[in-house]
Amino acid sequence: MDDTQDVQARAAAARAAVDAAARVVGRDPADVRMLLATKTQPLERVLAVAAAGHRLFGENRVQEAVAKAPGLADVEHEMHFIGHLQGNKVNQLLPVISCLQTLDSLALARRLDARLELLERDLDVMVQVNVSGEDSKAGVPPEAAAELIAQVADLPRLRLRGLMTIGLNSPDRGAVRAGYRTLAELAAPLDVGGPVVLSMGMSGDFADAIAEGATMVRLGSAVFGARPPAS
Ligand SMILES: *Cc1c(COP(=O)(O)O)cnc(C)c1O
Repeated sequence: MDDTQDVQARAAAARAAVDAAARVVGRDPADVRMLLATKTQPLERVLAVAAAGHRLFGENRVQEAVAKAPGLADVEHEMHFIGHLQGNKVNQLLPVISCLQTLDSLALARRLDARLELLERDLDVMVQVNVSGEDSKAGVPPEAAAELIAQVADLPRLRLRGLMTIGLNSPDRGAVRAGYRTLAELAAPLDVGGPVVLSMGMSGDFADAIAEGATMVRLGSAVFGARPPAS
């Protein structure tokens, strides 16, 4: 198999595993979207999975998202930003994404809204919540989520779609699941004019996230293999 067939086969296998994880807990696989985390992957591999019908991608660095955009211009897709966004990169990033999953402060929300007003467009956003309490993880603490959500509702160019979290990095599955349950509980009362998106679960723990209600899982290494260590 060449590399194109290899990533296509792995993406198909990942989708099948997501479907199976949904069925096991009595959920409809169609209710769980699979985002492919394409960070550090060359454009050719993104095009390979796009050609196989995958449409939802995530990047976590502004520079990389911007660099890949021209190569994806003729490809039907959605690009979500899943990394930490600094305010001074907003203008660069906005033209190349359809959703920001990592909204984590009122300052950033205001900055986005102001820029979107100039561009006369709206943006889907998710509030990132730090359910694990680990210092290394971005996101608002669970107890601060409701306030940021209410503030976002007052910004006309931002459309809240749901919540996102990066789960606890631990072999203790019960603790990982408890974090995902926290996100699901925060999402339950939200009215976002449609199904609330719960973006949670990665290659190592998507089944647990699906068991707790994830409607979007974000897979990288399961499809593309191990990444080189972050530089
Ligand atoms: C890279 C990344 C993922 C995918 O991680 P894997 O463990 O490789 O599946 C998911 N979410 C975010 C925010 C990421 O940066």
